Amino acid sequence: MQVFKFGGASLKDAAGVKNVASILQRYQDQSLVIIVSAMGKSTNALEAVVAAHAKQTGEAQALYDIFKEQHYVMMRELFEPGEEVFTTVNDTFVEGDWVLEEKPSEDYDYMYDQIVCMGELVSSKIVTAYLNKIGLKTQWLDARDVVATDNTFREGWVNWDKTKANALKIAKPMLDKGGFVLTQGFIGSTSENFTTTLGREGSDYSAAIFSHCLDATAMTIWKDVPGVLNADPRMFDNTIKLDRLSYREAIEMTYYGAQVIHPKTIKPLQNKNIPFFVKSFLDPNAPGTEISSDTEENYPPIVVVEKNQALLHISTLDYSFVAEHHMARLFSKAADLRIFVNMMQNTAVSFTICVPNVPDRIEKFIKDVSDTFKVKSEQGLELITIRHYTEEAIANLKKGKIVLFEERIRNTMHMVVKNVPVIERKEVEIAGSKS
Ligand code: ADP
Ligand code: ASP
Ligand code: MG
Repeated sequence: MQVFKFGGASLKDAAGVKNVASILQRYQDQSLVIIVSAMGKSTNALEAVVAAHAKQTGEAQALYDIFKEQHYVMMRELFEPGEEVFTTVNDTFVEGDWVLEEKPSEDYDYMYDQIVCMGELVSSKIVTAYLNKIGLKTQWLDARDVVATDNTFREGWVNWDKTKANALKIAKPMLDKGGFVLTQGFIGSTSENFTTTLGREGSDYSAAIFSHCLDATAMTIWKDVPGVLNADPRMFDNTIKLDRLSYREAIEMTYYGAQVIHPKTIKPLQNKNIPFFVKSFLDPNAPGTEISSDTEENYPPIVVVEKNQALLHISTLDYSFVAEHHMARLFSKAADLRIFVNMMQNTAVSFTICVPNVPDRIEKFIKDVSDTFKVKSEQGLELITIRHYTEEAIANLKKGKIVLFEERIRNTMHMVVKNVPVIERKEVEIAGSKS
């Protein structure tokens, strides 16, 4: 049994759905669990609906209606009028209407999950209906019946024991019946049956959860790029496709922000030694990238740029040393506020951390520790990570940048930088790239 995941980019319109179906046609006799994300950028559209509903701007329903209409446009291209899918999808949309008819919940994250899940629910219904229409027998599975999480809305923590038991009880018998099983990425449910989401871009992680729990022989995520590249192609020219990556390398890249794969994806696969492929839905015959336990010796420099970072410079109000008990308090506060520490450096009297710039959380952090610490925050920064760095690659990446903080550990280099005003990023070449 294999697991395939198709993201928003592959399902952005009716032609995309047809292309996904043509890829699946090649696997018609195989046992497949297919995970789909919301279509195109519809999760962003639903986030806007949630924000409008929370603030009661009066626009939430109109924004939700645009989201619905985009799906109807696509469905009219894929199906004949009167086909059952129109009713099925309409019934799903109504669940969103009900949430919008109520007063907004005080718990923003809870409300977010109840609305944003609509993207995956409708896309999975549309794709299932289309596959059945063209003769690919496909059963629709509600991922919320399998993926069990805690109550952390917007960032549900998976309860692995429950999820494994559910997968064996619910998904496995469906697979045993033959044909494909199609379900949603990104969503799960609490023990009280409230919908949770797993964090933005979490569908890759969902695919890994299903692969792990059902002992898949391989997992493939289908993207709009030829595979994993040594840098983000939206920021750099002359990127190189990596044919093979070790799990370790993939974890390092994604942990520091390589957006091609959700960072939580690799571990569940590595633990069961499940080979993982990143392939192009635009060129399905091409080999893509294989991520496995094999180690590769000759990596080119791999660059990951994480934008929108902040540095927090922390010192004690009484000028005492920053000691272990101080750090314990600072880290525990960061963990409570879900502030993710990307990098840190300490001296006798100061401690500096690099964190994603989420202003409300940072403000709360500064306020909550202000009895003991003075915190100065600096925004508008980037964290650049270079694996397998060369001096040439570092020099190229530093062009046009002011380096505030840098660290080299074995084959990884990190630097926190800010731009010297207006630079043309595409001029920067990564050493070792093809020209
Ligand atoms: P999905 O459709 O599955 O949601 P994403 O858009 O989340 O796909 O991820 C694919 C995108 O990730 C690519 O279009 C590419 O622009 C970007 N990307 C960033 N870093 C890399 C990298 N190192 N290799 C390949 N793609 C990358
Ligand atoms: N639809 C969700 C998002 O856009 C999950 C995903 O695409 O992986 O974040
Ligand atoms: Mg994505």
